[in-house]
Amino acid sequence: MKVGFDLHGVLDTYPEKIKPMIEMLRLTGHQVCIVSGPAIPEIIRQLDKIDMNSMIKYSVVDYLSMEGTEFTWDEKGTPWCDEETWWDSKARMCKHYGIDYLVDDSLKYKPAFELIDAKFIHISEII
Ligand SMILES: [Mg+2]
Repeated sequence: MKVGFDLHGVLDTYPEKIKPMIEMLRLTGHQVCIVSGPAIPEIIRQLDKIDMNSMIKYSVVDYLSMEGTEFTWDEKGTPWCDEETWWDSKARMCKHYGIDYLVDDSLKYKPAFELIDAKFIHISEII
């Protein structure tokens, strides 16, 4: 089984609860990964802060760029694309990368999971 965790609002918000879950999943032979919005260098920077950089990382921005999605960047360096493309992205990434479960705090990603085998788990269901 492969389980994905969101970073903002999940791993960075509840590290003391999520870290033991990740450890347990790894010890029982499962794969874990991060599925987060920013490009990989920014994800690495943020995982360093909570000492979790050994995780496999998947970036929404990088994935959508690979698919040819066009972004605009605001003055804070935040990328923007059309909303439907963004909110469908994590379900498509789960399908593409073989992720069975995604734990996320944003319910806007959930509807697209109804079209695929992967399951969306809201953080409130496990915290
Ligand atoms: Mg989030």
